[in-house]
Amino acid sequence: MKHDRFNVLEIIKRVTGGPGGEVYLIIGDKKTAVIDCGMSYCANKLIENIKRELPANRTLDYIMVSHSHYDHMGGLPYLKQAWPSAIAVGSEYTKYLFEKPSTLSRIRQMSKEVEESFLDSFKNEIAGIKYLIADDYSDDYVKIDKVVKQGDQISLGDEAIEIHESPGHTNCSLSFYLMKSKVLFPAETIGHLNSDGIMLMAILKSYKETIDSIEKAEQIDADYIVSPHYGFVPEEIKPSYFDLAIETAEEYKDFILGKYQSGLSEDEILDEFIKVYWHGHKYNQQPFEAFRVNAYYSIRAILNEFADTSR
Ligand SMILES: [Zn+2]
Repeated sequence: MKHDRFNVLEIIKRVTGGPGGEVYLIIGDKKTAVIDCGMSYCANKLIENIKRELPANRTLDYIMVSHSHYDHMGGLPYLKQAWPSAIAVGSEYTKYLFEKPSTLSRIRQMSKEVEESFLDSFKNEIAGIKYLIADDYSDDYVKIDKVVKQGDQISLGDEAIEIHESPGHTNCSLSFYLMKSKVLFPAETIGHLNSDGIMLMAILKSYKETIDSIEKAEQIDADYIVSPHYGFVPEEIKPSYFDLAIETAEEYKDFILGKYQSGLSEDEILDEFIKVYWHGHKYNQQPFEAFRVNAYYSIRAILNEFADTSR
């Protein structure tokens, strides 16, 4: 049977509103939760999908925020308006970032960048979606209601979500593990597959923390892995998923340090990185500006950690 990367377990429904950020609804026998919220432009569709999948007389109880980036939390203010009693769950650092005006305006700026560049690239996929403009929500809805840390559990009744801190991509990144179904939703720190099954990664904060987070996630020994921006990892890739993540991190580090050792400036390394790793909105699953900014921070992070000893 052909691998269906979205429909594997009954308890997990894909409710993604549009390309750019995956969202899953977990239906426990007492409570429900979404894993991430996707981008803001397609929040209307996301809400419609959640309403369709929610069993009768059930509500959305938890909104699990894996990290503070616009493609994972852009739908949050819309979900909070649709389900005011839903509890947004995230790390202490995500809570702190959502209280900063600079983060909130950055989120709007990136959401608008999507509207300008992304909508055209994905026009077939999003035909029929009434998309939203990232100006039409109040920042009051962008907040974390419940702070969680390593080892905490959110009970859904017969299922529970265990929290694993996964810094490296950002300081605020969390992985989520469904303890009964043994399904891991690794943070973007651990990499993410694109629709061609190629692993991508953005090491924005720390290479060493990234490697630690990958090794820690592997220890969880999950039966299923749901890769960010992709879905359920196929059986044939699953055993090597974490090795693939380590190899990808090493490849980016070696690329950046190699260019640095050959005498290139940070700006020149950035140009080279873009030439090799930017293949368009569909391949990289983000607008160019987001990719460029991520590449810039990745280069800064790697040089900060390794440059002294390598030139
Ligand atoms: Zn991210």
